Amino acid sequence: RPDIKNLKEEMEKQLPESTNSLLTDISRTAERTGMRVYLIGGIVRDLFLERPNDDIDIVVEGNGIDFAEHLRTDYGGSVKMHETFGTASWIHPSGLYIDVTSARLEYYERPASLPDVELSTLSEDLYRRDFTINSMALCLNPEVFGDLVDPFNGQADLRSKTIKVLHNLSFIDDPTRILRAVRFETRFDFLMDKQTESLALNSMARMRDLSAHRIVEEMKRLFKDEDPPGTIKRLFKLTFWQQFGVDDGSAEQSYIHAGQLKMFYEIHKPPAGTKPRWFNYFAIPFFTSKKMYLMSQFSLTKRNNKFLQDIRNLSDMEGVEQIREPGEFHRFLKHYEDEAIIFMIAKENMENEDIITSYLKRRIDMPVFLTGEDLIQEGMKPGPHFRGILLELEVAVLNGEINTRDEAVAWLHENHMK
Ligand code: ATP
Repeated sequence: RPDIKNLKEEMEKQLPESTNSLLTDISRTAERTGMRVYLIGGIVRDLFLERPNDDIDIVVEGNGIDFAEHLRTDYGGSVKMHETFGTASWIHPSGLYIDVTSARLEYYERPASLPDVELSTLSEDLYRRDFTINSMALCLNPEVFGDLVDPFNGQADLRSKTIKVLHNLSFIDDPTRILRAVRFETRFDFLMDKQTESLALNSMARMRDLSAHRIVEEMKRLFKDEDPPGTIKRLFKLTFWQQFGVDDGSAEQSYIHAGQLKMFYEIHKPPAGTKPRWFNYFAIPFFTSKKMYLMSQFSLTKRNNKFLQDIRNLSDMEGVEQIREPGEFHRFLKHYEDEAIIFMIAKENMENEDIITSYLKRRIDMPVFLTGEDLIQEGMKPGPHFRGILLELEVAVLNGEINTRDEAVAWLHENHMK
């Protein structure tokens, strides 16, 4: 297939009407102000891949803030400036955000890796990007509208399904790019080329220099994509987990656990949602190599801490496999979150998994027939034994033995007030 040189037709065909009309507006302002303006980044790549994307990122050869102001003058809306980076967001009257960046040198420190050759300001901007497939731009000025600028031949790499860095120091400059590479590999079913993969392996130790926050941000995005088990496996190959103390040998077991977790959610569509959260997948390699304590550094929220604590306690619990009634689970699991319970049973592949799911479903909207107040009203003396009584009541409700308040009161008199 010959190289595509202009994507005007593709844009008209693939992008939503609203995006196209915006791009025409931007084009008009580019013409009026005499500035060179480009559409850039993921949206260009996705036009080639025919995947929906309406994230408009604009690069201007010149001052991006000025250009955003021109857009506001021409079409209204407002402008939000990020002065230090020379970027601005134009907020279109419809509420849509459009990022406008300056391809101008004085705003940035020149990266160490940039070669000492004359590049156009646009090429300089592209050179700072991660992979060839993400370093393409489309001209938006009317006379050249849709012309492709592709100095690193991203188009060829798209065709051969290859993720390729722009230069050898790319992962040293920014190790999170390795995680981005894995994300694009799994999402598009691409692969890094040999050179890129070996650079990734050689720079992986740098991952340890990153803040937990940055790693967490990438993990969230990674495990949102289609194939978390495959992602876990790939990250073992690239020695990501190993940097954080996970055993090399737990790769296979982790892969299996992740697959079972994913399947569990697909089959049961459990109450907590239809997908495990990123943190659950992230926990698997640590859990498999019995190193949960090493992941607490990445647990930045209360919810994650509770999850870790639940998993730790559940690992020590015995006797759950023998249970055959939903209510009986309640005695063991009342204080545990759904996701922690599911994490454990998915791993064990337990025979009674259906009963646990029905327990989880029932406990969400379990009716509360009696409270401590009611027990006092019925003439009982308050005390710590109330807790046990109310738990027994919940067990009976979950087992379907008690279905109304009257039945609950009768049960109370029968069992606890004679
Ligand atoms: P997604 O569909 O996941 O949003 P995307 O390619 O649009 O994918 P973004 O993270 O939104 O990804 O980034 C937009 C563009 O910015 C990318 O296409 C890439 O060119 C550039 N970019 C983002 N992060 C980096 C990075 N760490 N290093 C270099 N370039 C980056």
